[in-house]
Amino acid sequence: MSGAGSGFVFSEKPISIASGEGVSLTAEDGTDYLDFGASYACTPAGHCHPDVVEAVREQAADLLYVQGSYPVEARTDLRAKLGALAPGDLGNVWLCNSGTEANEAALKFARSATGKTKIVAAKRAFHGRTAGTLSATWKPKYKTPFEPLLEDVEFVAYGDADELAAAVDADTAAVILEPVQGEGGVHVAPEGYLEAARDLTEEAGAALIFDEIQTGLGRTGSLWACENEAVAGDGVVPDVLTTAKGLASGLPLGATICADWIAEDAGPHGSTFSGNPVVCAAANATLDVLVEEDLAANAAAVGDYLTAGLAASDLPLRDVRGEGLLLGIEVKRGANRVLRDLALDHRVLALPAGRTVVRLLPPLIVEEGHADELLEALTDVLAPTAEP
Ligand SMILES: *Cc1c(COP(=O)(O)O)cnc(C)c1O
Repeated sequence: MSGAGSGFVFSEKPISIASGEGVSLTAEDGTDYLDFGASYACTPAGHCHPDVVEAVREQAADLLYVQGSYPVEARTDLRAKLGALAPGDLGNVWLCNSGTEANEAALKFARSATGKTKIVAAKRAFHGRTAGTLSATWKPKYKTPFEPLLEDVEFVAYGDADELAAAVDADTAAVILEPVQGEGGVHVAPEGYLEAARDLTEEAGAALIFDEIQTGLGRTGSLWACENEAVAGDGVVPDVLTTAKGLASGLPLGATICADWIAEDAGPHGSTFSGNPVVCAAANATLDVLVEEDLAANAAAVGDYLTAGLAASDLPLRDVRGEGLLLGIEVKRGANRVLRDLALDHRVLALPAGRTVVRLLPPLIVEEGHADELLEALTDVLAPTAEP
């Protein structure tokens, strides 16, 4: 590591961003980019949605911070709103500052409430980078330098209900799953898998944790992916659901939403910045926009449009996977080169998910016209004549 900007943690892109509006990001040199990555799904309502900006301004003028033990309207409202929007009867909301913290809390709560230790997670899973959540994350590259991590974590093949049945036993505190794996390459749970996980955990007295940090908030066409018919029949309600990323339109916020039996015996846990009023105000406004504008329905519609467009094209693709506006396009050459060409030649920003998958996570306000722009750019970048 050799100082600021050396690539420590994040590799720097050759584009300095000055502002954002809706589905666009504008660089310091004035160039506009169509944002199909939404900086990892963090801006579901679009960049700088006016309602969110206004809510932040108003709350900042009133109160930037007060410790969590004093009720503050923005925080109380957010807990109520998340409880009302959560699937089934999940209604106990713990607020924190990131996705990894939301999952860390979920794992701690599950251990405390069950009095057991074993965690079952999936291969290819990504749940965060604290020592606890990293233990349930699959990629050895992220973990090896920091080992030993938590003991008593077993990994199973994602989507294989039999393997899950063999792993879940009387010592299991929790099974943690992404309803659609994001970071691991965009893999949708096969039909019946989440339901099987529900049955197995219930029988074993273990907590079922759904990590909806990437899949939640309307992205897959339902407010939560576990409610998605295509993924889970009539929907599967976990014992703990975690959300973060777009929850406060990119301000740092995570939430761990728990069933009563988990919350009643969750153990001691806390965080100074839990439920910061400004961040909660941003989240309240974001959730209002998501619900009032039914952005989940737009995600389903534009997602279908994009998937159909990709299927109808004769682009050299190995696979197109995903749900709604969480899509993975498996390309035949390195995803990073495709992403570079999309950005520098066509001013379209997207994300990787592993070496060969181009991941699309646009703001949920994108329209079919934007999908057409992306398809055109992809056609140009991936056309056989564009190969070196
Ligand atoms: C991004 C992500 C996390 C980690 O969230 P951070 O806010 O980066 O800590 C955890 N799980 C999933 C599924 C994610 O996509």
